[in-house]
Amino acid sequence: MVALRSNRLWELRWSEVAALDRNSTLVIQPTGAVEQHGHHLPLDTDIHDATEIAYRLAKRANAADIGTVLVAPPVWWGTSPHHLAYPGTISLRMETLSDLLVDIVASLWRHGFYRVMFLNGHGGNAGVLAATALRISEEVGISPAVASYWTLIPDVLREIGESESGGMGHACEMETSLQLHLRRDGVDMGQVVADMPRKLTSYSHIDFRSPGPVMIPWDFARDSRTGTMGDPTTATEAKGKRIADASVDRIFDLIRELMALSEDDLRAGRTRAGTG
Ligand SMILES: [Zn+2]
Repeated sequence: MVALRSNRLWELRWSEVAALDRNSTLVIQPTGAVEQHGHHLPLDTDIHDATEIAYRLAKRANAADIGTVLVAPPVWWGTSPHHLAYPGTISLRMETLSDLLVDIVASLWRHGFYRVMFLNGHGGNAGVLAATALRISEEVGISPAVASYWTLIPDVLREIGESESGGMGHACEMETSLQLHLRRDGVDMGQVVADMPRKLTSYSHIDFRSPGPVMIPWDFARDSRTGTMGDPTTATEAKGKRIADASVDRIFDLIRELMALSEDDLRAGRTRAGTG
């Protein structure tokens, strides 16, 4: 396989994209948010996390020679209405984010790319991304995979977590650790405070290690004093490295399996009623 100059789609020339083997190329679309992350983390924490993990995956995939992994231009903004009380937050309407992603995947498919994964860094996007993947399967005709990085590593989060239950929610032990590892300069550890989530019901528990089965939309101005939800005082760079490494390992396994699927497997609407 000819080595690509870059794994970032936007740095390539069209003729380089044209030359890619569609069957052995997977496109990662990072998604995240520009939203408040307490007093100690930057607004772009979620999209920064997702994009850095995507870059590592592209590098690993190419070194392992399992095909080409390309990173699409990150979609910075997510749906963050529950953070709009805090200055700097930029929130897309759910329809806007969904339409944007449908158009991006339709463009990729126009050029024959059908292995697509949304790699998400923002919890508030999860419902829209799942619904958008269904839309894409109906409207575009291919089936993207949707993965939020933390959902693949609950066992690792339970192993390294030191905070009480509720300590991993937002700008929390997990996100602060990951940013300490990925971008130490952006974190102000002098400003971290524990701000544990308000428990609205015993079934709607918020914690990345073991989320409750019931979802009630968040409102940070209602549920948090500082914008943090969890306990970032327990964050360390070493935990951040474990989170990054484990996420890359698991998502790499997922990519390997996605690469092994056939085009038919990923083309929605191919199974017709009456064909068994
Ligand atoms: Zn976040």
